Amino acid sequence: MGAKRNPFEIAQEQLDRAAEILNLDHAAHMLLRKPKRELHVLIPVEMDDGTVKVFEGFRVQYNDARGPTKGGIRWHPDETIDTVRALAAWMTWKTAVVDIPYGGGKGGIVCNPKEMSPAEKERLARGYIRALGNFIGPEKDIPAPDVYTDPQIMAWMMDEFSTLRGYYSPGVITGKPIPIGGSLGRGDATARGGMYVLREAAKVLGIDLSSATVAIQGYGNAGQFAHQLVVDMFGSKVVAVSDSKGGIYSEKGLKFEDTVKFKRDNGTVVGFPDTKEITNEELLELDVDVLIPAALEDVITEENAPRIKAKIILELANGPTTPEADIILHNNGKFVLPDFLANAGGVTVSYFEWVQNITGYYWTLEEVHERLDRKMTKAFHDVYEAYKAKNVDPRTAAYLVSVARVAEAMKLRGWIKKVYR
Ligand code: NAD
Repeated sequence: MGAKRNPFEIAQEQLDRAAEILNLDHAAHMLLRKPKRELHVLIPVEMDDGTVKVFEGFRVQYNDARGPTKGGIRWHPDETIDTVRALAAWMTWKTAVVDIPYGGGKGGIVCNPKEMSPAEKERLARGYIRALGNFIGPEKDIPAPDVYTDPQIMAWMMDEFSTLRGYYSPGVITGKPIPIGGSLGRGDATARGGMYVLREAAKVLGIDLSSATVAIQGYGNAGQFAHQLVVDMFGSKVVAVSDSKGGIYSEKGLKFEDTVKFKRDNGTVVGFPDTKEITNEELLELDVDVLIPAALEDVITEENAPRIKAKIILELANGPTTPEADIILHNNGKFVLPDFLANAGGVTVSYFEWVQNITGYYWTLEEVHERLDRKMTKAFHDVYEAYKAKNVDPRTAAYLVSVARVAEAMKLRGWIKKVYR
């Protein structure tokens, strides 16, 4: 694999390609090429040893034409403003493709949470919210968890914001614990949303999921729920799964409960009885019907794309396929369900959480599932129509749908005179 590319440059290139095909108006294109607003903050935090450490944080509001900006907060030692900008851009396209009334945003703090105590994390979470102040809010910009942030951190952040405002404001942040305004169904929302999209894709491609074989790369939140749901909902057979230590293969299929228990007890799926050990690279090239990358970015590249045999690739991970690999897969008749469509179930249920918070009325699990199904199914067919009409790969088709929606909102609000050149 070559040197890692700047993700914001990739995001801009993807937009440029869609703008070209759409004949997008120049002013619209320029407004969508960079974030509308961003805030850089310094957060002094008293550490447990009595010293003060100064952390750097960001919040990017990429575009808010369709509604308040929405996007997670990452805590990572390698966080950069360009990563946050790229993720904020992708959130803009993700909220647009599932047609929820949000723009795109993202936040980040440069820190190593693995080396911090819970008390230090709480002070950092509260300090970040005080530094952002009125830059965020339920009607302005709504954060959520992302890499290395969790429901407890969201709870502290919501509490700090409510203290600043002077009243309980659960709608400022999503991904909260259930007792303080979280939504039922948030836990498996990403994988479940992906399943609805997979079901629709299988229908139009004429693939019978009840006899399909599936391989899943990554066995964390997204990968484990994908295993459970693809079996429960469709009766498919999961023949291979993997984690950072390696992968396992079983021709007769892996039972979900046993595989999860083994992973919990041993920290990895490798060594699970009656399975063949395979590498992560081999997993991607298995002769299966459905491949689900649910771990890392840049795993399907121009090098291995020619050897991918799966008919459908459901991208639960963000950015698993490079632009060069996309073209190869498309030319080989493989159908990629692109990340910002395939994994949009998480932000969709976050939107449901916010709706429940601002109305003060909470839904049943069945209501959440049914509404998520409707959103994801419609999003798939909107993208599929563009795919057929424009004869492009599915990722480009998803871009065409999203960019046109955001540009249309900018025109209606009077920011630009026209959508197309
Ligand atoms: P997670 O941390 O729960 O799980 C990640 C899994 O990937 C782990 O099993 C880990 O062992 C495995 N992994 C790490 N390095 C690997 C390697 N080199 N090869 C194979 N496996 C490896 O993370 P998650 O929440 O499941 O997220 C996975 C992907 O899905 C990420 O790209 C994330 O951005 C994306 N995603 C997740 C959500 C969500 O709601 N969880 C929403 C949208 C997108």
